[in-house]
Amino acid sequence: MHCLSTSQRAIAQNLTQRETTPFFCYDLDQLAAHLIPLVDQQIVKLWYAVKANPLSRIIQTLDKAGFNFDVASNGELNQVLSQGISPERVLNTGPAKSLQQIRHFVAQGVRIFVAESHNQVIWLNQVANEYDIQLQVLLRVQLRFDKAEHNPLGGNTLTPFGLGCEQWQQLDLKEFKALEFVGLHIFQWGNMLSTETLAELWQAMVKPLLELADTLGIELKVLDLGGGLGIPYQPQQASLDWPSLVEALAQIKQQTGVEELWMELGRYAVGECGFYLNPVVEQKTNYGELQLIVSGGINHLLRPAVTGQAFPAQLLRDSAASEQKFHVHGPLCTALDHLGDLPLPADTSSGDWLVFSQCGAYGYTESMPFFLCHELPAEYVIENGKSICVRPSEPAASYLR
Ligand SMILES: *Cc1c(COP(=O)(O)O)cnc(C)c1O
Repeated sequence: MHCLSTSQRAIAQNLTQRETTPFFCYDLDQLAAHLIPLVDQQIVKLWYAVKANPLSRIIQTLDKAGFNFDVASNGELNQVLSQGISPERVLNTGPAKSLQQIRHFVAQGVRIFVAESHNQVIWLNQVANEYDIQLQVLLRVQLRFDKAEHNPLGGNTLTPFGLGCEQWQQLDLKEFKALEFVGLHIFQWGNMLSTETLAELWQAMVKPLLELADTLGIELKVLDLGGGLGIPYQPQQASLDWPSLVEALAQIKQQTGVEELWMELGRYAVGECGFYLNPVVEQKTNYGELQLIVSGGINHLLRPAVTGQAFPAQLLRDSAASEQKFHVHGPLCTALDHLGDLPLPADTSSGDWLVFSQCGAYGYTESMPFFLCHELPAEYVIENGKSICVRPSEPAASYLR
């Protein structure tokens, strides 16, 4: 399932004739087909978490599919609006909304906000008064559970995302006359691959969230469950089954009695549509182990260093050689630049290209492209079976001052 299709592979092989440095390629045809069943249901309203991949053509494809947009910065907002998307379809989450940022968002026409602190509520009310408008607000809640697991989003550990129930209860919502408190937002677990576990987590939230809404006097119109739907990064992992997720969500919707259930999808929406093509510089043996040195590393794909989880990789050409475990290292002068220990054909060598899959989300813009002054990777899309260069590779001179 991580393999390229025959046509994707032909396009990738073609592009490697032209490119000499690593590049990304996103298949918009595959993405559009993947999005159809996601929006084809009446249970959950879907927003795209733009941080997963803010490329214009990706945003346009989600727009066409009927997604709304969750943005967390002025840059993301401007990128979404530049694609001709109306600000009414934009939601603003994020722990660092300053008064200035809120003003910018409201001036641009955004009316729905997830508040993550008392100050954010105060500032939202202040800006709404300045503009003489009403804003819709969801309060972001941080719950703690008994048997929670640890993960990158924090789980039970203290995070800056929202506030605990006790803190929210200290706020008198009636004081904020310019704000309509429409619901609650919660998102604490990332990259989950089990519908059962997700359903259990959502289930565990129902009681505390309903109690909190009751204490605060909020009539719960909207419950936003955030993101956290995973995609498989390892060959033995199975994908989530969308219909059973929708069933689990339908149950939550019924139990909570909310009018609308929302989610902001990042990884699950776009992760599987992207590839990263990476030239092999050389193979060497070191202390009895095989190493591959590749042109691009965590300067283009930071995620393995942050999560300890490799992106799946294959050799682009056919090889009859048996597979061996290779330690795959990028070009940076730090041992952190390790893309994983991956099984690859034993004859993988200089002049070959590796193709990393599941790179449509948390690739290019999550990385650290400036360290050591390598080229910025090019970005291609595939549309109607043809490749289009959206961003050519750029040398360090383009960003060095
Ligand atoms: C990042 C983010 C998401 C998307 O997370 P995925 O795991 O990629 O689906 C959703 N909601 C919020 C508030 C986020 O910050």
